[in-house]
Amino acid sequence: MVSLGAGICAERTAVVKAISEGQNKFIAVAVTSDVPSPTTSPCGICRQFLREFLSPSIPIYIISSEYPSELPSWLDKLDQDQESDEIKKYVVKMTMEELLPSSFGPDNLGMQGPQ
Ligand SMILES: [Zn+2]
Repeated sequence: MVSLGAGICAERTAVVKAISEGQNKFIAVAVTSDVPSPTTSPCGICRQFLREFLSPSIPIYIISSEYPSELPSWLDKLDQDQESDEIKKYVVKMTMEELLPSSFGPDNLGMQGPQ
């Protein structure tokens, strides 16, 4: 089993915790696991959940468990479109829109969407 439907994933836990503490503006999401390749993207349930709170342009970083500590932090690259080739071996960058294309969010119902 790779999608723990009856449980709650780390992505949803992090958003719920942030909102419960009054933080409702997000600038990025980072996902990692103990898997060496940067392929552990959020599950389908989390993608829709994240879309409720993230604007389509928010970057989603999927990070390898083998990210070398001697490389610069990917956090330092948040505002740059060009990450180094070395970092790209360990980090996949997507946007919320790429992760869940043609998504359904609050703005589809005329509600104010995530900022
Ligand atoms: Zn999930």
